Parts: sequence; C-alpha cells; structure tokens
Amino acid sequence: MTKPLVVVTGASSGIGAATARLLSAQGHPLLLLARRLERLEALDLPLTLCRKVDVTDRPRVEEAVREAEERFGPTDAIVNNAGAMLLGRVADQPVEEWDRMIDLNIKGVLYGTRAVLPGMLGRRAGTIINVSSIAGRKTFPNHAAYVATKFAVHALSENLREEVAASGVRVVTIAPGAVETELLSHTSSEEIKSDYQAWKESAGGALDPQVVAEAILYAYRQPPNVTVREIVLAATGQEG
Ligand code: NDP
Repeated sequence: MTKPLVVVTGASSGIGAATARLLSAQGHPLLLLARRLERLEALDLPLTLCRKVDVTDRPRVEEAVREAEERFGPTDAIVNNAGAMLLGRVADQPVEEWDRMIDLNIKGVLYGTRAVLPGMLGRRAGTIINVSSIAGRKTFPNHAAYVATKFAVHALSENLREEVAASGVRVVTIAPGAVETELLSHTSSEEIKSDYQAWKESAGGALDPQVVAEAILYAYRQPPNVTVREIVLAATGQEG
C-alpha cells in the first residue's frame, strides 16, 4: 500500500460517492461513513472500510476513524461532506429541520475534524476538506437555516486554517453551486422543492457530482506546501 488513508463522510450518494470512487481510483485506502451502509458497500471499492455512522454521533465517528487507522495507517485527509439541505421559511419551517441541519452540517464537520486533527498536528501533515456551498457565501430564497449552517462551515474552516497553517495542516473549503444529487429530495415542502427544481432547470441544469469530486482531488493533490484555500464552482448558467 503506497497511498495514505482518506476518510469521506456522506459517501453513500452524490458528491461523497463520486469522491470516494475517484480517490479509490487513485489508489487510496478509504474509510466511508454514512447511515446507509448498503449504499457504501455497493460502491464495492478495494481497500475500503464502510461503516454505518451518523456523523452527529461523535464517539462513533472517533471509533470508526481509529478502526480504519489501525488497518490502513494514519488519516492523511478527511472530506467532511455529509450534509442536508432542508429548505423552508423561517416563519413556518419545522424547527426540527433546523436542529438536524445544525447538528449535521456544522457539528458533523467539527466532529470529523476533531477525530483526525490531533494526529495530523502530531505528524505536521494532513488535509481537512470541508464541503460547504455557494450558500456559504451568499443567500438564496427559502435557505435561511441552510445558509446559516454553510456560512458556519466557511467561517470555521477559515478560522481552522489560520489555527493550523503553521503546523503543516491544510484546510480547504469546497463551495459548489447546484449539483445533481439527492440533496433537494429531503426538503419537506413540495412547493419549495418544485420552485428550486424550476430554478435549476432555468440555469441549464446543475453540476455533475464528478466535477466536484475532481475539484476536491485537485486541491488534495497539490504539494504539501500549497493550500488551495477555497474552490467555488457552479454551472455556467447559474447566475446567483
Ligand atoms: P446527497 O443527499 O446526495 O448526499 C448527502 C450525503 O450525506 C449522503 O451520503 C448521506 O448519507 C449523508 N448523510 C446525511 N445525513 C447524515 C448523517 N447524519 N450522518 C452521516 N451521513 C449523513 O447530497 P450531496 O452529495 O449534494 O451533498 C453533499 C454535500 O454537498 C453536502 O454537505 C451539501 O450541503 C453540499 N452541497 C451540495 C450541493 C448540491 O446542489 N447538491 C451544492 C453545494 C453544496 P446517508 O443518508 O446514507 O446517511
């Protein structure tokens, strides 16, 4: 085994699955985390440990990372990708949806980071790649709670980058516009979902998740003394 371990959260669909396939094709051993274990296993990737882990459960994230490191050696990178976009208006969106996004999109990123960061600091090497969104840079209709979580991902990533830069650890923020994945399907309001779908179509369609996976790989495979701090990418037809 020549390549080091990479952890990918939310690898059971969309951007995470595309990233897992791409990193595996580069020869990396992987730890893949998500709640749908069968979807992780269906990727059928070599040198890959699949674990059914809800990333809001910090001890389970830690446990899975330790298990993977025992098998494959230290974690060289984590892609904190697991996330949910539950669109709604502040006046009437079920508050449970806010709680779910805050726990998953913010705490999930922090928990994944904590599971690998002390080791990276000790080795003075490693890359933390956080999947935020263009919704972490600007607002969109019906996105209030979601943008709050993605602005948080941008903010914590930049703060962390400053904190660990002198220790040789890189922090990368990936900020995609609309990507064709399962993300929208979890929004509970049918009206908001169909408005979003119409907006996506008016922009000429969304990005293929493979494009985002390639952006992640581009950032990761820079020499250790180069940090790609942020990549913002969207379909050309996406105006906002
Ligand atoms: P998907 O819905 O296809 O993928 C989301 C992934 O997150 C799934 O693998 C899902 O797996 C996992 N996940 C959800 N909840 C949990 C949990 N509690 N614990 C562990 N894993 C969980 O959407 P995308 O691929 O689009 O989303 C990936 C990231 O990209 C998200 O952070 C999203 O915000 C971001 N993004 C997406 C954009 C888009 O337009 N699609 C645009 C900009 C950013 P499972 O259900 O099996 O647990």
